[in-house]
Amino acid sequence: MSRSEHAGAAWQKRDVTHFIAGAWVEAESGRWYPNHSPWSGEVLGNVAAGDGEDTRRAIDAAQAAFPGWAAVTPAQRQRVFLRAADIIERRRDEILLALALETGCGIHFGRVQVDFAAALLRQAAAQGYQPAGQLMPSDVPGTRAMAVRRPVGVVAAIAPWNSSLVLAGRASIGPLSLGNTVVLKPSEESPYTGGALWAEILQEAGLPDGAFNVVTHAPGEAGAIGDAMLAHRHVRRLNFTGSTPTGRRLAEKAGSHLKRTVLQLSGQNPLIVLADADLDYAVDAATYGAFIHQGQVCMCARRIYVERPLADRFMAAFAAKVAQLPTGDPRDPATVVGPVINEWALALLQRRVDEAVSMGARVLAGGTPAPPCYPATVLTDVPDDAELALGETFGPVVLVEAVDSAEEAVARANESDLGLAASIITGNTYLGLELAQRLDAGSVHVNDQPVNDEPHMPFGGVKDSGWGRFGLGFAAEEFSDLQWITSREQDRSFPF
Ligand code: ADP
Repeated sequence: MSRSEHAGAAWQKRDVTHFIAGAWVEAESGRWYPNHSPWSGEVLGNVAAGDGEDTRRAIDAAQAAFPGWAAVTPAQRQRVFLRAADIIERRRDEILLALALETGCGIHFGRVQVDFAAALLRQAAAQGYQPAGQLMPSDVPGTRAMAVRRPVGVVAAIAPWNSSLVLAGRASIGPLSLGNTVVLKPSEESPYTGGALWAEILQEAGLPDGAFNVVTHAPGEAGAIGDAMLAHRHVRRLNFTGSTPTGRRLAEKAGSHLKRTVLQLSGQNPLIVLADADLDYAVDAATYGAFIHQGQVCMCARRIYVERPLADRFMAAFAAKVAQLPTGDPRDPATVVGPVINEWALALLQRRVDEAVSMGARVLAGGTPAPPCYPATVLTDVPDDAELALGETFGPVVLVEAVDSAEEAVARANESDLGLAASIITGNTYLGLELAQRLDAGSVHVNDQPVNDEPHMPFGGVKDSGWGRFGLGFAAEEFSDLQWITSREQDRSFPF
């Protein structure tokens, strides 16, 4: 039994099984794997190592529960979501500790996640009262025509570990709120906070058995679950949040199964600082945007473009601030930069930074690993063909570059194949708004940094950052079908 104190809570070592048809069940194969904490390496519990067979059981359970959940009244559905939000708030300290132990999430980002999850549920509680369709004018006399939204059935959800509570919740609650049932596959790095925890909460809140199911799996075995989801005839949608290479593979397979997908993928997010920006504010915003959750948020600033008149002063002040960021135990409220998720992530960061330096990049802050942490790191003069410049590197490393104009900053920003989030800091908000419209990104924040999300916003990417929008007001586009229904109160005449 291991115990750690954090925000008044204590961790009890716990095993995580699948959650299928309202029951906690082991993998059919009987296999397990240990869930290690990225900070201490301790085993937090054992996890059911599921496979395609377990996934099919979960999908069958979700399919069986679908007619019942689709038919409940908006008021019944609302009660479940409101109760779930209350449960999250009641369990707040314990959830913060679990996030720290399982994913290395510090207290600040933990609070962001818990608040988001509660808000998501409270907003979802109103979803059942949204208009269910439209009356359509018809040119056929006597015909009444309607476009009616209906749930699609079973929605499969694959979520990552990095904002485990939020991203598993976002993948599941929107589809559930529209009357669908869900099978969630959490990341092997967050089977509890990104999977079983949601099952505990929704079960206690009174969600009917089978409406929400969780299948866990061992590291390296996600493919069998994803394949079983895509191949199953009862799965009508797949939503995926994760890296572009994995999303691309899933989209290729989804095509052959004619499965619609929502894909929220990698970002290589630019933060643009114009010459008229307030220097202190720009430094604070860039520090938060690049290093929140040790840079392991898909929206984190990865590239900072500073207009030349401010560039030297910005780089000096930014590097000085970043070098002071407290690094270490995610349970310590003072810590800003906790551990990265695993040793492979640490090795990748080290390799890419070393490669950039060998190609001529200069380290302005950080740059030397402190296992299991990688310190907040700022590089400049990174060549365009360095791996760090080419694609997303998930961790606390940001590139800074001086540019000659706002136009050049926009052009540099748009060179990437990715287009998730972006931001612009300027004293001229009108110019900021004008530039925002020229940036190829799913979201742009003027006079802010790029890490922003709210449950009802149209969150998603463009280009290779994916397609489809999460966000409760927009989820209906993705997770319901429009049915055209006509009715006539009198016979019509036919030509033959
Ligand atoms: P990240 O680097 O954020 O972990 P990944 O794309 O590797 O990004 O993982 C995101 C999610 O995708 C995780 O739940 C992971 O288990 C899952 N995943 C990884 N490979 C596959 C695959 N071949 N099929 C289905 N899911 C996968």
